[in-house]
Amino acid sequence: MRPRKTGVGLTARRVRLMGSTFEIAVLAGDGIGAEVTPSALVVASEAMAAAGGPKLVLNAQPAGAAHFQHTGSALPEETLRACEAADAIYLGAMGLPDVRYPDGTEITPQIALRIHFDLYAGLRPTRAIPGVPATLADPEAGRIDFALVRESTEGLFASYGKGEVEGDRARDTQVITREATLRVSRFAFDLAVQRGARGDGASGAAVTLVDKANVFASFAFMRRVFDEVAAGYPAVTPHHLYVDAAALAFVTKPWTFDVIVTENMFGDILSDLAAGLVGGMGYAPSADIGDRHAVFQPAHGSAPDIMGTGRANPTAAILSAALMLDWLGQRHGMTAATDAAMLINRAVDAAFADGGLRTAEHGGSAGVREVTDHVLDHLRQSTTPSVSTPAAPPLL
Ligand code: ATP
Repeated sequence: MRPRKTGVGLTARRVRLMGSTFEIAVLAGDGIGAEVTPSALVVASEAMAAAGGPKLVLNAQPAGAAHFQHTGSALPEETLRACEAADAIYLGAMGLPDVRYPDGTEITPQIALRIHFDLYAGLRPTRAIPGVPATLADPEAGRIDFALVRESTEGLFASYGKGEVEGDRARDTQVITREATLRVSRFAFDLAVQRGARGDGASGAAVTLVDKANVFASFAFMRRVFDEVAAGYPAVTPHHLYVDAAALAFVTKPWTFDVIVTENMFGDILSDLAAGLVGGMGYAPSADIGDRHAVFQPAHGSAPDIMGTGRANPTAAILSAALMLDWLGQRHGMTAATDAAMLINRAVDAAFADGGLRTAEHGGSAGVREVTDHVLDHLRQSTTPSVSTPAAPPLL
C-alpha cells in the first residue's frame, strides 16, 4: 500500500514527519483491549516527550466484535483507510465469545489486517522481567531473552477458509513458498544482527529454525531456503530444531535461544508457550510486521472473564507500544523514538524490580491503574538514555 501523494509530490507521511509527528491509527477493540490501550498510549506519548521525539497523533478508529454487533461491520472501510495512511497501527484486542459471524466463526479483524497489509513477520519478544515471578524453577529462567518470529502468511494457515471435508475425510494443506521463507528468514537474521549489536539475548547472535524436516517435504524445503539465507549472515549462528525437540527445550533451557523462526502454525503454538515462560499473556508484547506497515498489539485476547474488573495487566500493551516506537525510530532513523522505547522498557523493569507489584496472573491485585501508575512514576524519574548504553534492556 503506497502512502498518499500530496499535491506537491511529497507523501503525506513525509510531510507529517517534517512537521515532527507520528500518526498512530488506534483500534482499541473489545474487552480488556479497550482497557489497556489508553495505558499503553499514555506511556508511549510521555516517553516520546521525555526523549524529545515527535508527538504521537492518535487517530482512534472503530473495529472489533462490539462494533460488528452495532453496525454489522468488524473492520469498516474508513478504519482500513486510516490504517493505510498512518505511520503505525496500534491494536488492543478483538473478539467477544458471543459475537460471531452467521457461519459461527469469530470476529478477527486482526487477521484481516495481517492479510491486507501483508504482515509476514509475527514478532513475539520473550524476556523475563526481573521481579515478575518466574514460571520455571531453574534459576537460569531469569536469563530468558529471545524473540520468536512466526511466518504469518502461509504454512498450515494457507488452508484457512479452504479446508475440505468429504464424508469421513477432512483435509487442510500446508503451503511453504520460497519467497515467503526467504523474507521471513532474512527478517530473523537481520533481527539477530540487531540484537547482537544491542547486546540483547543471553547467548550470542543465533537463529534457530523450528521445523519438522525429518517428516515433511514442505519443511525440508523450508530448511534448504533458510540455509541459503543463513549463508549470507556469517556472524549469526544458524541452528535447526525439530518442533518436538523445540517444545522440550522451551521448558528445559529456553534461555539458550536468541531468535527463533518458524512456520505459522508452529509459531502460533510456541508463541503462547513463550508467553507462559515469562509470566503469561499479560506480559507478552507482539508485532505483525511487513515491509511497509506494522500492527502492534499485546499478544492476549479480549479476556472476557476479567473485562470490566480493572484487573487486566497492561504490561504487554505497554511493551507493545515500546516495540512500536522502536520500529518507528528504526524505520525513520529517529534516535529519539528508539530512546523512548528504551525508556519504556526500563520503566517497566523498574516498576516490577522490587517484586512488590503483583498482577492477577500471580494472585495479586495490581491491575490497569496500579501498573500504569508505577510505570509512569518510573518513566518520569528516568532521563533520556544514550542509544549506546550497554545496559539498555532489550527491545526485540
Ligand atoms: P483469544 O482467543 O482472543 O486469544 P482467549 O480467551 O483465548 O482469547 P485471552 O483473552 O488472552 O485468550 O485470555 C486467556 C486467559 O488469560 C484468560 O483467563 C484471561 O483472563 C487471561 N489474560 C489475558 N490477558 C490478560 C491480561 N492482560 N491480564 C490478566 N489476565 C489476562
